[in-house]
Amino acid sequence: MNGKNDKLKEKIWNIRNYIQKLEDIKDDIIEYLNYLKELDDSTRNLWISDVKEFYYNTFSAWEMLRPTKDIEFKNIENSKGFLYVARNFLSKIISQLRIFQNDKSSKLIKKAEETFKECWDAFWFVFQRVLNEKEILKPTERVIKVSDLEYHLPCSVCSKNAVEFKIGYGRFDKSEALVFRGITHERSMNINLANNLFRILQEKDLLGVHNFMKRHHSFEGLDAYCPECDKIYCWEHYNAREEFDDGFYDCTYGECPNGHKRMIDD
Ligand SMILES: [Zn+2]
Ligand SMILES: [Zn+2]
Repeated sequence: MNGKNDKLKEKIWNIRNYIQKLEDIKDDIIEYLNYLKELDDSTRNLWISDVKEFYYNTFSAWEMLRPTKDIEFKNIENSKGFLYVARNFLSKIISQLRIFQNDKSSKLIKKAEETFKECWDAFWFVFQRVLNEKEILKPTERVIKVSDLEYHLPCSVCSKNAVEFKIGYGRFDKSEALVFRGITHERSMNINLANNLFRILQEKDLLGVHNFMKRHHSFEGLDAYCPECDKIYCWEHYNAREEFDDGFYDCTYGECPNGHKRMIDD
């Protein structure tokens, strides 16, 4: 084992300080919710379980980085996954606390946001250190034709699969459909649209795909696509964030590496 590795392991170990702070915040918020007279019991229980999920997902993100041997790429990806889920729970919790405009509520929000930001940065320091040493694949194509029935759109930064279109069965489909899987959700569309879409994909016309999705899917179009860059980004590189309103999912915003921000799911 070399010194660099030791240093990294120390960095990972030190993340536990933030985890501990978040645990305190979790307990503070739960205590606050328990004393909040305005809440009925079922809402209270739901909100408390959100706070716990927030904490446990952050904790799991940390655990993923603590394998017995070297840190593998897979662990990093899993860790990121938990961290993203934790961040979404945090925005949900904050939208719930915001309903009560008082001092205590504002203080808890501020403390939670600040501590999670520190924790998030500490995680990303580790992710970047590990990933810098691996070779990052440069995407070769904008559109990958897997078969006559399936196309993939890779992220323009990391080349990870961001979007899939295929003819097949979605989770609840009884008959074949045009299945779209983007960075925010999966949805089955009318199979009769496939010919039209696949023609656009064959021309590698990403803007065309975006406009197609605007017409047939939703106003936001293709969730992984930044129209200003004319590029595809995965969840991570679109820096996608879920937003909540009074505790309910509202929408997802993406901000590409060039700072273009738009609503990508509503
Ligand atoms: Zn990416
Ligand atoms: Zn952009």
